[in-house]
Amino acid sequence: MSQNIEKIAVLTSGGDAPGMNAAIRAVVRACSYHNITCIGVYKGYEGLIHNNLEELNARSVRNVINKGGTFLKSARSKDFRTEEGRKKAYDNLIANSIDALIVIGGDGSFTGALKLSQEFNFPVIGIPGTIDNDINGTDFTIGYDTALNTVVEAIDKIRDTASSHNRLFLIEVMGRDAGDIALNAGIGAGAEEILIPEENLGVDRLIESLRKSKESGKTSSIIVVAEGDTSGKNIFELGEYVEEKLEDDYEVRVSVLGHIQRGGSPSCYDRVLASKLGVGAVEALLEGKRDVMIGIVHKQVTVVALTEALQKRVHKHDQLIKVADITSV
Ligand code: ATP
Repeated sequence: MSQNIEKIAVLTSGGDAPGMNAAIRAVVRACSYHNITCIGVYKGYEGLIHNNLEELNARSVRNVINKGGTFLKSARSKDFRTEEGRKKAYDNLIANSIDALIVIGGDGSFTGALKLSQEFNFPVIGIPGTIDNDINGTDFTIGYDTALNTVVEAIDKIRDTASSHNRLFLIEVMGRDAGDIALNAGIGAGAEEILIPEENLGVDRLIESLRKSKESGKTSSIIVVAEGDTSGKNIFELGEYVEEKLEDDYEVRVSVLGHIQRGGSPSCYDRVLASKLGVGAVEALLEGKRDVMIGIVHKQVTVVALTEALQKRVHKHDQLIKVADITSV
């Protein structure tokens, strides 16, 4: 494989995240700036397998920086999980004279990219694009900041109803493995309790704490629950349990925020982050780097081996948990 980079393909894969368009735009424009041909791949790895490609130039990405989702579309490709599927994808990359592939997505997408590289010696670069903020080696992933703001806005609205009716709301937010959204949005929206996958204090402690809140004069409550919460009950069962235990204290309601958390116009932070990482990805390829993720650490763009990005992230939530405990008394 030649190290000379003349043609780059870019795709978005896995769950969409606000800011993916801004990242594609940055890749396309960095290619244009460095006189590299840029090929957009539609529908993630599925599009690579089916040769669904289109050349993009600087003008192809006008008016996309402010749009949520991804104009290249995303997909979850079963075929790419097979070696046969990846061989088809590789054959299409070679048939189109593409020298390297930039993948914007989460850890599943990076795993697929790394396999493509290892099996066929094809250079890949990952850009972390997922609202979950669950990737090792980067402080933030594209889409996370926007999702946080969306969640805070939604909880603010629910709080109006909670306080008007003395209700207790359990609100489920995204985060199967990581409590970042729940914890940060919970603090930002003034939640009384926050349940995250990384910490299981048990439902009885929750009931105890809600009783104390009531005694201290609170008339309504917001409990933010990450979808990967490990209490052993789903949010509806948890709601029923809390209502049963706190019968006379509150009316309990459950709200699952769901897909509204993925959509919407990206925040300024996500647009800037996506722009930095997109430019960083193209420049890393020009510097001969491959099989790496472009991340952000202490505001600096960094280059991390994909193998490291795929390691389990070490959660450092202690300070935030303490802040949440103190500010919810
Ligand atoms: P999100 O965090 O938003 O879910 P993700 O990138 O982790 O994003 P996945 O659905 O896990 O989303 O992965 C996206 C695609 O990457 C899959 O549909 C599949 O094509 C490919 N992929 C995931 N895991 C593997 C794997 N082990 N081997 C090959 N390809 C994979």
